[in-house]
Amino acid sequence: MAEERFDYIVVGAGSAGSALANRLSADPTKRVLLLEAGRPSHPWSRIPVGFARLIDNPAANWLYSSEPEESTGGRRIPVPRGRLLGGSSAINGMVFVRGQAEDFDGWAQLGNRGWSYRDVLPVFRKMESYAGGEDEYRGRDGPLKVSDLDESGPLYDAIIGAGQEIGLAWNADYNGASQDGIGMTQASISGGRRMSTARCYLDPVRSRPNLDIRANAPTEALLFEGRRCTGVRYRRGGEVHEAHADAEVVVSAGAVASPQLLEVSGIGQPERLNALGIPVVHELAGVGENLRDHYAPRMKWRIPAKGLTYNDRARGLGLVWQALKFAAARTGLLGLPASPVRAYIRTRPGLASPDAMISFIPFLATPNFKLAKESGITAITHPLRSESTGSIHAASADPAAPPEIRFNFLSAEIDRTITLGGMRMTRQLMAAAALDGIVGEEIAPGEKLEGEDELIAWVMENAETTYHPVGTCKMGSDPMAVVDDRLRVHGMEGLRIADASIMPTLTSGNTNAPSIMIGEKAAEMILAGS
Ligand SMILES: Cc1cc2nc3c(=O)[nH]c(=O)nc-3n(C[C@H](O)[C@H](O)[C@H](O)COP(=O)(O)OP(=O)(O)OC[C@H]3O[C@@H](n4cnc5c(N)ncnc54)[C@H](O)[C@@H]3O)c2cc1C
Repeated sequence: MAEERFDYIVVGAGSAGSALANRLSADPTKRVLLLEAGRPSHPWSRIPVGFARLIDNPAANWLYSSEPEESTGGRRIPVPRGRLLGGSSAINGMVFVRGQAEDFDGWAQLGNRGWSYRDVLPVFRKMESYAGGEDEYRGRDGPLKVSDLDESGPLYDAIIGAGQEIGLAWNADYNGASQDGIGMTQASISGGRRMSTARCYLDPVRSRPNLDIRANAPTEALLFEGRRCTGVRYRRGGEVHEAHADAEVVVSAGAVASPQLLEVSGIGQPERLNALGIPVVHELAGVGENLRDHYAPRMKWRIPAKGLTYNDRARGLGLVWQALKFAAARTGLLGLPASPVRAYIRTRPGLASPDAMISFIPFLATPNFKLAKESGITAITHPLRSESTGSIHAASADPAAPPEIRFNFLSAEIDRTITLGGMRMTRQLMAAAALDGIVGEEIAPGEKLEGEDELIAWVMENAETTYHPVGTCKMGSDPMAVVDDRLRVHGMEGLRIADASIMPTLTSGNTNAPSIMIGEKAAEMILAGS
């Protein structure tokens, strides 16, 4: 067993880990090892339409699933996670949303110094290159390219018109001063290419002699001397290796794998670890708790008007035309993010900011995101800051065994209220005059389903997440917090966590941008010696 020495070891080359490894290795005196369990790349990860090819593809996806629960109608629901350089940013829907200023101010209010909106806005600006919006809010020369969609047409005009009819303002930049209203999606896409963190943060720095990027190298355990994390044990090419970190190990394996790695290494709830035969290194009650995600019913309407949806436009020769259009101009179906239009809505009067989202997909899809035969439109709605919490825990001492995921969706009454409010507003929007003559019958859940209990039962039996698990190693200073506001694991030395697992609450939107921000911020704190 060969042992190597580095200053920093980063476990997991996903959204946060890739950004972190890039920034840490900018200092040529620091030796950085970045370990990734998955493969170096996948051909479908390069272009946007590849999303539909990766969502159920074991070559680049961990393909976890949840335990059967009441809130999922007894179903195991899919929990896809990227398993390649770039992590989930290399398989996700490419929708780019920071969240609301209030999300980060809320983190600061919980006692996390340095995480208010004022603190994180410069980090969001530093990480992106975006041509629109105002300089005060948007970054112009960061590594991650973000673009506006080059999509237009009568269906989009009608949806936006319908949104305005029900009182939503047009918002040209929901990542700017305010998230409120309806607008076109901003995407981590540039020139028809997916902008994963592998492409934006790792490709440009691969030649740095002080940065060692190793794919197909799953970390199996964190190594300790007393309460100090001294390195990792990982597997590569059928062999077990140990790497020593002179400064720190940073775990960036994501909200599913980070708590699991802590537990199989001996950090967590003693009863759980004992039951699995794992020697306890450090008791920490919050590891794997506080799981939050966006549980989102997919509502569907038929569109009888011809030629408006991609179900119609990408059929037969239409698909050839879409392929040619993409080849020539990098636009059309093959260049789309997961949903091209989004609305941030208030489901009750008197709210300071939106509490729910509706996103629109200009076609009907099968559960694994392939185009359906019938023509229609899909509207996805969910509470922005779901408060129901579940857990993710190791099911075995074997690091390669999938963990148990329990979401416990809709256990917080407020999540039920907002879900129902979101569905009600989606129906109002679809019934607005701007969509007259375009929209046909509601297919799912169907007009007849009206009662609140019936609707919630339908959600439980049919909803899926929008793939945003967070919070399982939450930041804070209460007894259930796993890391402090410098992302250091409570009670340990030489060990931080930097990924979506540290979010104490859900951000108001998709979680890639805030995860990258967390990687960037971790690097700033580590390099500043704090
Ligand atoms: C299908 C899908 C669609 C999504 N759509 C969007 C979207 O449109 N917009 C958006 O903003 N967000 C979206 N998300 C969510 C977003 O991509 C994630 O929140 C974000 O990427 C999380 O970043 P992370 O750094 O926490 O984890 P990840 O990016 O998941 O990175 C974790 C990395 O660690 C690696 N790893 C795990 N265990 C080990 C180990 N033991 N050893 C070594 N490496 C390990 C993994 O393989 C992975 O590469 C989507 C996610 C999915 C899966």
